[in-house]
Amino acid sequence: ALQTFEASRRRLAFNINELWHHLRTRLNSSQMSAINEHRNNLLFEIEQISDRDYEWRKSELRKLANYLNRKINELQNPKDCKTAQKLVCQLNKGCGFGCQLHHVAYCFLSALATQRTLILDSHSWRYASQRVRKATNSRWDLVFQPLSDTCLDDSGSTRSHWRGNDRHVQVIELPIIDSLRPRPPFLPLAIPEQLSTKLQTLHGDPFVWFIGQIVRYIMRPSKEMQAYLEKSKTKLNFKTPIVGVHVRRTDKVGTEASFHSLSEYMYFVEDYYNRIDLFNERLQKQEKVERLVYLATDEPSIWTKEVKKYQNLGYKFIGDSGIAKTASLGNRYNFDSLKNIILDIWLLSECDHLVCTFSSQVCRLAYELMQTRGLDTKAKTKIDWSDAFNSLDDIYYFGGQSEHNQIAVLSHKVREKDEINFKVGDIIGIAGNHWNGYSKGLNRRTLESGLYPGFKTIEQVKTAFFKVFDEPEK
Ligand code: GDP
Repeated sequence: ALQTFEASRRRLAFNINELWHHLRTRLNSSQMSAINEHRNNLLFEIEQISDRDYEWRKSELRKLANYLNRKINELQNPKDCKTAQKLVCQLNKGCGFGCQLHHVAYCFLSALATQRTLILDSHSWRYASQRVRKATNSRWDLVFQPLSDTCLDDSGSTRSHWRGNDRHVQVIELPIIDSLRPRPPFLPLAIPEQLSTKLQTLHGDPFVWFIGQIVRYIMRPSKEMQAYLEKSKTKLNFKTPIVGVHVRRTDKVGTEASFHSLSEYMYFVEDYYNRIDLFNERLQKQEKVERLVYLATDEPSIWTKEVKKYQNLGYKFIGDSGIAKTASLGNRYNFDSLKNIILDIWLLSECDHLVCTFSSQVCRLAYELMQTRGLDTKAKTKIDWSDAFNSLDDIYYFGGQSEHNQIAVLSHKVREKDEINFKVGDIIGIAGNHWNGYSKGLNRRTLESGLYPGFKTIEQVKTAFFKVFDEPEK
């Protein structure tokens, strides 16, 4: 009953937004100004409802995070590294920072699923390659803490490539997710079945919360990096409330994503601040909220060309066009660029709302990290951040994931061309949300592919056995 209540409360907010997307793409802006107020007022009431069991959810979620992190620490710090079962992950994927971090995150969840200590081999990491220190194997520890205090050595008595979790092999080398065969059941978007009931009750996107915890552990900053993050945050005068905008252009546009002007992002920024204003009015708070935007981008010209119009409308942008310059392809793998992409992801994850393209791993990483916030403070902050975004393109996904399915809770009959039919209980493989009230997917029963109203389906959360969460054998 509790799980149904929590899920239903979240569905209510989600479907109000689906209805809003449906209307905003069909009606003109003067019709929408009344509807926007209606919608924000409804969302305010839902906030009031969710307030009721806030403390309980927070304490349960904190317990879950503590348990997960204790298990991670135990696994990563075995008593005897010589005899520990190990999984080796190579940090040599020829792609950007977000892509590489997601590769490590996939290795990490495989380590949890197979109960093996993860050993990261980072000596051919392309970032920061000019800063190799003598006598260390790792460029990684220039920016991050090592993944273990006791076990960084990948040697063992027996060794092989992945052929499944063969207990007789001490050291297993993991390929990239796309070439992993046989494919184990624990790959994304699966969550550990041992955490599943709690997590599905407590959070709107259990997988993102789970991977967020893992990413947070992986990205624990080194002393040097921590100092850089703090110094930059002060220098930028970063404060909340703030909306994070990530505009990914350069090499991404036309290859893996479409061009979007800053105005497309700012539409959702304005919507967010209008909602804050309405909430404050309902709470009888007088203060006028400053419209702050943290802008991260790999396109420096946005700073000189596109932000002006919005500055004149009263928005204040923080960020640094110098950082954008370090993001260009020619500079991307320098040490400064590495520090700056970590800074951008870190600060994006600390924003109150994200507006970006989920086709970019930069923004997906920030969104994952965002989910871990709010648990270790007494202050009454948001704890379920699953709805704190607008993506201009994809829905959340994890590169190389297994199929992402939904279940029909209402039947659907085609009304317009390009739509699909389904019956209650049909499984729909979701490919995307068009952010106009309709999603695109494949009916796995009829093999029809096309559009359907998003409110007629719910997520099918996949679970898998993760060995690390089992009690030790006696
Ligand atoms: P994707 O290509 O956008 O999916 O993400 P990746 O992280 O795999 O590769 C893009 C790379 O471009 C990043 O890792 C950065 O090196 C650089 N980059 C892209 N956007 C930004 C940004 O907003 N800020 C900074 N500092 N670098 C960026």
